[in-house]
Amino acid sequence: MGIFKVPMPKNEPILDYAPGSTDRAALEIELKKLKDNPVEIPMFIDGEEVKTDTRVDIFAPHNLKLKLGFYYQGGEAEVQKAVDAALQAQDGWESTPWEHRAAIFLKAADLLAGPYRHHMNAATMLAHSKNIYQAEIDAVCELVDFFRFNAYYMQEIYHNQPGNAPGIWDRTDHRPLEGFIFAVSPFNFISINGNLPSAPAMLGNVAVWKPASTAAYTSHILMNIFRDAGLPAGVINMIFARGAAIGDTVLKNENLAGIHFTGSTAVFQNMWKTVGTNIANYKAYPRIVGETGGKDFIMAHKSCDQKALTVAIVRGSFEFQGQKCSASSRCYIPQSVWSIIKEDLVTMTNELKMGDPEDFSNFVNAVIDESAFDTITEFIDYAKNADDAEIISGGKYDKSKGYFIEPTIVVTTNPNFRLMEEEIFGPVVCIYVYDDNEYAKTLHILDKTSPYALTGAIFAVDRKAVELAERTLRHAAGNFYINDKPTGAVVGQQPFGGGRASGTNDKAGGIQNMLRWASPRSIKENFIPPHDYKYPFLG
Ligand code: NAD
Repeated sequence: MGIFKVPMPKNEPILDYAPGSTDRAALEIELKKLKDNPVEIPMFIDGEEVKTDTRVDIFAPHNLKLKLGFYYQGGEAEVQKAVDAALQAQDGWESTPWEHRAAIFLKAADLLAGPYRHHMNAATMLAHSKNIYQAEIDAVCELVDFFRFNAYYMQEIYHNQPGNAPGIWDRTDHRPLEGFIFAVSPFNFISINGNLPSAPAMLGNVAVWKPASTAAYTSHILMNIFRDAGLPAGVINMIFARGAAIGDTVLKNENLAGIHFTGSTAVFQNMWKTVGTNIANYKAYPRIVGETGGKDFIMAHKSCDQKALTVAIVRGSFEFQGQKCSASSRCYIPQSVWSIIKEDLVTMTNELKMGDPEDFSNFVNAVIDESAFDTITEFIDYAKNADDAEIISGGKYDKSKGYFIEPTIVVTTNPNFRLMEEEIFGPVVCIYVYDDNEYAKTLHILDKTSPYALTGAIFAVDRKAVELAERTLRHAAGNFYINDKPTGAVVGQQPFGGGRASGTNDKAGGIQNMLRWASPRSIKENFIPPHDYKYPFLG
C-alpha cells in the first residue's frame, strides 16, 4: 500500500504540422485512410457494441459527396439499456481504488497523445471541418489536459481532510453520487465531448453519455480509447438517440444523480424544467451542471494597441467558423480607433482563405450542418435588409458543395441591433462604433445588452480604462481577457465557464467542476467514548 501521487500535469505541447514534417506526412496518410474506409459506428452499452435498424449517414460538412460512414441510432429501448448498464456497474466502479480509476484516464491521455493522435485529428478535420490547428488544440491537446489535470484535481479533493479534536479522528469520504450521470455534449469541441462523461467517471460515477449526432464519428474514437485504456463495461455508455426518446427515460428516472451538459441555453433550460417538474420523484436531488450559449464581446478603448485589436477580432470571431461558444460576435470600438483599423480589418478578413481543411492553406472551413448554415445565413440576410446596419466584408454563402459561409463583418449604428444581442454561432461579427468620450457609458450598455456572460475581452493600454472595464464588466463574463482574444482557454490556466444565461459556471478544467461530482461524507471516530451520561454542570 502507499499514499500514491498523481504525476504533476503539464499542458500537452501543440504540434505544428509544418510542411515537410513527419507529423504532417503521418496525418495525410491517416486522412486518406479514413476517406477510403467509411466507418460503421455502433452505440456502446455495457461494454458491447449495439446496432439497430436505423442507420444515419455522416458526410463531411465541407464536401457533401464525401460519405465518412454511418452511425446506428437508438430509441427508448437502447436508452433504458444504457441506464440499466450504468446502474449495474455502479458498485464495482465506485469500489475500484482511486489510483486505478486515475490510471485508466491517465492511460487514455497517453493513448490520445500518442497512437491515436493522427487518427483523432484526421477524423476531426473531416467530420467537424476543423483545420489541423483547430483539431490539434481541441481534440488532442485540450482533451489530454482534461484527463491529466482532472486526475490531479481528484487527488487534491481526496487530500482535503478536516482537522481533529483530541481523541477523535475526523475523515471526509468523497463519495461518488448515488445513481447515474447523464452527460450530454455539443458538436463543436471534441475535448468537451470527452470531458463530460469522464470527469464524473474518474471520481467513481457511472454515466450515460449522449454526444451530438454530428459528433458521432469522433465520439466513437473516444469510446475506443476508453475501452483500450481499460475502462470497465457499463461505466460510460454511449448512446445516439433523438431528444424525444431520451426525455422521459433518462430525465425522469428516479436514479438520475446529475446532468453534465454543454450546448445551447434553450436545451439546457428545458432539461432543468423537466427535472424541476419531476423533483419529488428522485432518490436524491440531481446535480445540474451546464455550460451554455454566449454573446462574447471585444471592447476597445481609445488607448488600445490597434494591430493587436484587429488580429483579435479576426482570430476571435472567425477561427473554426465562429462556432466556439467563446467566439467574439460583438465588438465596441471607439470612433478614433475605428477610422484607423477599419481598412486593415477588412483586408485581413478578405485574405482569409476558405475551403476544405485538407488544403492546409485554408483558415476557414465549413459550418457543421445545414441547420447551422440556415440559422447563420438568416442573420446575414437580416443584416443585409436592415436600415441601421451595413455589411463591410463577406456576406456571401453557398451550400452546393459544403456548408460555406464567408467570414462576415457587420457594422451597426444601433447598440441593441439584433446581431449585437443574439447568439449567432457562426462566422459573423457585429461592430458598434461609439463616441470616444462615451467609454464608461458604452461599458454599461455592453453589460446590459445580452442575457449571456461567457467570455469577453478589453483592449486598452491606459490602466485606468482596464480597471474600469474589469469592475463594470465583473459579471458580464466568466472568462475575461485583457489585451487578448476571448477564445482559447487552456486547462489548468483559465478554467472555463460563464454565468447569467451562459451556464452554472462550474469551470470545466478546474477543481470546481470535479467537486460537483463528489458527495462528501463526514466520518467521526471517537477513540475513547464517554461512559457516564452526566455532564459536569449537572453536579
Ligand atoms: P445543442 O443544444 O443543439 O445540442 C447539445 C446537445 O444536446 C446535443 O448532444 C444534442 O443532441 C442534445 N439535445 C438537443 N435536444 C435535446 C433534448 N431535448 N434532450 C436531450 N438532449 C438534447 O448545441 P450544439 O449545437 O451541439 O452546440 C452549440 C451550442 O453549445 C451553442 O449555444 C454554444 O454556445 C454552446 N456551447 C457552450 C459551451 C460552453 O462551455 N459554455 C461550449 C461549447 C458549446
